[in-house]
Amino acid sequence: MCGIFGVYGHPDAAALTQLGLYSLQHRGQESAGIVAVDGVGTARVSRAMGLVSEGFADDEMAALTGPIAIGHTRYSTAGSSVIENAQPILARVRRGHIALAHNGNLTNAVELRRALEDDGAIFTSTMDSEVIVHRIARATGATPEARVANALAGVEGAYCLLVVLDDTVLVARDPHGWRPLVMGRLGDGIVFASETCALDIVGATQEREIKPGEIVAVDRHGMRSAQAIAPEPITRCVFEHVYFARPDSKVFGGSVDRSRRALGRQLARECPAPDADLVFAVPDSSNSAALGFSEESGIPYELALIRNHYVGRTFIQPTQAGRDAKVKVKYNPVRELLEGKRVVMVDDSIVRGTTTRGLVSLVRAAGAREVHMRVSSAPIISPCYYGIDTPRREELIAAQMTHEELVRHLGVDSLGYLSIDGMLSAMPEGPQGYCHACFSGRYPTATPAEPEALRAGGEVIPAADDAAPPLTPIAAAVG
Ligand code: 5GP
Ligand code: SF4
Ligand code: MG
Repeated sequence: MCGIFGVYGHPDAAALTQLGLYSLQHRGQESAGIVAVDGVGTARVSRAMGLVSEGFADDEMAALTGPIAIGHTRYSTAGSSVIENAQPILARVRRGHIALAHNGNLTNAVELRRALEDDGAIFTSTMDSEVIVHRIARATGATPEARVANALAGVEGAYCLLVVLDDTVLVARDPHGWRPLVMGRLGDGIVFASETCALDIVGATQEREIKPGEIVAVDRHGMRSAQAIAPEPITRCVFEHVYFARPDSKVFGGSVDRSRRALGRQLARECPAPDADLVFAVPDSSNSAALGFSEESGIPYELALIRNHYVGRTFIQPTQAGRDAKVKVKYNPVRELLEGKRVVMVDDSIVRGTTTRGLVSLVRAAGAREVHMRVSSAPIISPCYYGIDTPRREELIAAQMTHEELVRHLGVDSLGYLSIDGMLSAMPEGPQGYCHACFSGRYPTATPAEPEALRAGGEVIPAADDAAPPLTPIAAAVG
């Protein structure tokens, strides 16, 4: 997953972009970058591994002058975590330059890349996104938007794109609309962002969502918009509301705080814990859902688990003992609240189960008498191919164990997951038009032929038993 942010027509474009990226840090912490284009058309780039706060030295920021800038925060889904794979990509081409920032995952990137390589294209990264740059460089069309539309015909999967072609800024959203993208205004300038919280931080007014399949172009001739990409059934990512987006954002036009509370309330209705003394969240991602659970059930909400916000992402441990220690470094229970109590622990999702298992043992060690785990989404049983880095099916604990096995493995007294229907009913825009493939195994499109090659950026030929089991595409069923 990634965050993207762009500005057209503001003298402080790069500084605003840096601010916007701070608000999109949760969407990616591996690398961050900004490309700025000055008044005479010179494009400059600054990219670094790590957080936005670490990435941009003052002198580098000072050099990023001009009224146009786009930025990116990255968390790798296709291609490894190295500086070559940091975005935005900046390429010099015969007609000028192309800069691109991408959120999402292309499902046919391996095939598209091989075709380009067969044709002589040289790639400098292992990202699926670089395929789009090559296709734009080769595309024909009378206008920048025609070139981008031409380049995107035949590109499948999830993308929200920010593109700079010379002095035109363009945004494009795939016709399924998996990832969010919004537009705002700041004075005479236009701002684009993955989430509205990034418009708020720069003081921009929220104007509207970019529609699935829409391309918007803005340059000195003004703003132009067209439904330029052939329509598909809408399959917005339900996991954006469950986990990914910030609760102070609106995504897909709906408040994330509101949807998370609704998820929590629905969870309390579907999986009550009538005798519990208190409910608490695994901070921060499930704070709003746990509040909803408390509101619906009447069980008091307590801050029984405290998260350390200063634990760097570099604290990565290869061994199980190390991972257990990591849970302890990140979370500490409040013994005074838990001792002797029957507690409901709410989390938004369980992926590998490692964190959950560690937390349950911490909460028990702090004296909790009963631990009732409640999850504000359905069990994750299938990988995501549309931009979220869910692991392979073999690592997804809910795909590997029965309910009883999970209860024992996690060490809980009871375990309740939200149903898929319950999850969709909590969406602010209604239950229709969402992707839920990682929960249901029903993919709205054909899945990648070579998922491991896709992750590696086309470099790996997978062993046959490495590939995901075949799934029946249900092209129109999720619309
Ligand atoms: P697990 O018990 O599966 O090891 O961890 C569950 C926790 O992981 C939950 O608190 C959930 O919020 C979080 N989580 C869910 N999806 C992701 C993700 O894509 N990336 C990260 N870093 N955490 C996630
Ligand atoms: Fe979102 Fe899951 Fe669909 Fe991926 S598979 S786009 S995480 S709902
Ligand atoms: Mg969490």
